[in-house]
Amino acid sequence: MNKQSENRKCYYCGCDAFEERRTKYIYSRNGQNLFVPDMPVDVCLNCGMVYYHGAALLKVEQRFKEIYQKQVEPDRYTTMPVMEYA
Ligand SMILES: [Zn+2]
Repeated sequence: MNKQSENRKCYYCGCDAFEERRTKYIYSRNGQNLFVPDMPVDVCLNCGMVYYHGAALLKVEQRFKEIYQKQVEPDRYTTMPVMEYA
């Protein structure tokens, strides 16, 4: 889980400088969503490309399944405004 990104180059610009940040992420499947307000990502310092951590994605997917199979409660619920880009 730790720092595989240090040996990696940005797929888009070839830069090898990344910074770990937190960003908002919505996992969606079959019309159901799980909102993660503090998803860890690596951001390319040159072009700003965002790379999600494989382990984090798996963890979100697992939690999504647990929540929708009623095995665990989510940490909290939120409601969001919706814009339909018609
Ligand atoms: Zn880049």
